Amino acid sequence: MDDRLPVRVAVDAPQHSGLGGALDYLSERTLSPGTLVRAPLGRREVTGIVWPGDADPEPSVALKPVAAVLDAVPPLSARWCELVDFAASYYQRGLGEVALSVLPPELRKLDDDQLAQRVARLRKAWAVPPAGPVPARPELTPDQAAALARLGELSAPGQAPVVLLHGLTGSGKTEVYLRAAEDALAAGRQVLVLVPEINLTPQLEARFAERFGAGPAPKRIVSLHSGLTPAQRLKNWLAAHLGLADLVLGTRMAVFAPLPRLGLIVVDEEHDPSYKQQEGARYSARDLAVYRGKLEGACVVLGSATPSLESWQRAEQGRYERLTLAHRVGNGALPAVRLVDMNLLPKAPGVTTLLSPQLVGALARRVERGEQSLVFLNRRGYAPVLHCGACGWKSDCPHCSAWRVFHKVDRTLRCHHCGFTQAVPRACPDCGNLDIAPLGRGTERLEEQLAEALPGARVARIDADSTKTKGALEAQLSAVHAGDVDVLVGTQMVAKGHDFRRITLVAAVSPDNALFSSDFRAPERLFALLMQAAGRAGRDAAQADRSEMVVQTWHPTHPLYAALQRHDFKAFADSQLKERSMAGLPPFSHLALLRAEARTAQAAREFLQAAATLAEQIPGARELLIYPPVPHHIARVANVERMQMLVESPTRGTLQRVLRPWVDELTRLKSQHKGVMRWALDVDPLAI
Ligand code: ADP
Ligand code: ZN
Ligand code: ZN
Repeated sequence: MDDRLPVRVAVDAPQHSGLGGALDYLSERTLSPGTLVRAPLGRREVTGIVWPGDADPEPSVALKPVAAVLDAVPPLSARWCELVDFAASYYQRGLGEVALSVLPPELRKLDDDQLAQRVARLRKAWAVPPAGPVPARPELTPDQAAALARLGELSAPGQAPVVLLHGLTGSGKTEVYLRAAEDALAAGRQVLVLVPEINLTPQLEARFAERFGAGPAPKRIVSLHSGLTPAQRLKNWLAAHLGLADLVLGTRMAVFAPLPRLGLIVVDEEHDPSYKQQEGARYSARDLAVYRGKLEGACVVLGSATPSLESWQRAEQGRYERLTLAHRVGNGALPAVRLVDMNLLPKAPGVTTLLSPQLVGALARRVERGEQSLVFLNRRGYAPVLHCGACGWKSDCPHCSAWRVFHKVDRTLRCHHCGFTQAVPRACPDCGNLDIAPLGRGTERLEEQLAEALPGARVARIDADSTKTKGALEAQLSAVHAGDVDVLVGTQMVAKGHDFRRITLVAAVSPDNALFSSDFRAPERLFALLMQAAGRAGRDAAQADRSEMVVQTWHPTHPLYAALQRHDFKAFADSQLKERSMAGLPPFSHLALLRAEARTAQAAREFLQAAATLAEQIPGARELLIYPPVPHHIARVANVERMQMLVESPTRGTLQRVLRPWVDELTRLKSQHKGVMRWALDVDPLAI
């Protein structure tokens, strides 16, 4: 008789193959759930995780044995497995796919001996740093003290509150995170801090290291993000998993870090779209953090000056507790917001007005006084397209329904979607006209125009192009900090997070397009960006009084700008929520977006229509609204047609009940639609 035991193992089987869950294998000994193993899958041997729950093998199928057990790594916890289970089922992906994709890739390459070496080395490296004096901590502001007192009440033993920390830029949210972390660490718990962008991790890491890396009981801090080398990522992951690291700082992937003693999760800038993964399992790290807090009995702090409307509404409903920091530290004033009505500017034929005289005047005054200014463009929609004034030709991409962008540095036309690049033609390809010129308003043009309008001023540009090489961003930022720049020009990249001390003027050159975007979240994003940008001015309290924000607009009476002038997020949120409610948009409805890619739009459309027919047969579907398929806003990329279909539900529960059986059907459906190359389902999509 075979005395080997059947075990369930989560393996990364191909998406939508029907092998999305855990597979059954045989093991010679009992394996705890969460144990890492190597197991045969098809002709390969892959890493898998012994999954909680009983194996349920078909009697007729001969099970294969587990090939090796990776005992060097302690089993992942039941709660970790539950988080992954939830993420896979909520975002409609394979269990094994999600489980394995959130492990450090290096873990899949090493055998048990190699892993044992890494673990042993780590335990020795991790000698506790020598004790030192108590690091300096600022006296709390009354707002901070009140917020922390309430947080303390809410975090009584056995409680796992979710708190929305709503604080103006510069109101000291980070200090609240630090104090909350201090309490959790003192109680022997681990702390997870999520930030939206890799660029912001070193800054935050430095502040946490300064506070906790030294002192009488120094703590161990690691980071987790995609900028690490595979070896570093494995090491930091192991440190978290083994409980050696007390603090883990990272980007969205870190929400899956195994943390045996987790007590506090901070999600900084919780509204930021980068928390949503845009491929594979399209999870929201912010939403998973909230789920994980409940699961682990950990307190969750969502921090923002401009919370997402989803979180704001939950706070209004009392599901999250809102704590408010209503004043800037040192009571520095927020900059006065001046709207420049672009309709009133004198019009000169043939001249595109990018800079109003009001803005140029305000900039010139700063240059004179030796103060800095920040001028920014929303990147989207402002790429400079080449244009022929004689026949109307524009630099379109032959493979995509998009314009190619003019790059002045190497005089090329580049498609930002498929990458197709060509040298700029000497004359218009359609009519031969020699006078073709950039249309639109890129940062490069803005930089040029500023340099012209402000002779002698030192103008510097920071955007995706100027920071391509490693270290370029750091070098440029330190030039700004050192005062070697008078006017900083850039995209939203420079408007977020940086603690510039000498800036007294911030200007949004042309923010209007977001007001009339088809993306229903565009106004929310614009408001967040403008509030963030405003927060870059007057961070040095001594200069706060004369700090100013200039917004050039063609729509000066828009309610968004009125709320901005009063720095009144609540007014903005109220008006947006009213609009969303009337339009039946989130958070008043729950969405899923089915996307299909095919060689022809017809094939993609037919697949989506057939999918809609299938959905309608699933119980519960009558409560859903399934919209007709429409082209993606960039309908064609690299000769692939992209269509999408929106599913709207009054409740999350109904949506979830329909999606799972639907996804199973779609796998079959695709095999009947040969023209369809790919499909994907996005639950809670950010843009529709
Ligand atoms: P936010 O995260 O809300 O934008 P920060 O936490 O970065 O704000 O705080 C803004 C500045 O104020 C930082 O330089 C920080 O060191 C300082 N700061 C925060 N809290 C205090 C405090 N209680 N006393 C003095 N300075 C503080
Ligand atoms: Zn032409
Ligand atoms: Zn293209």
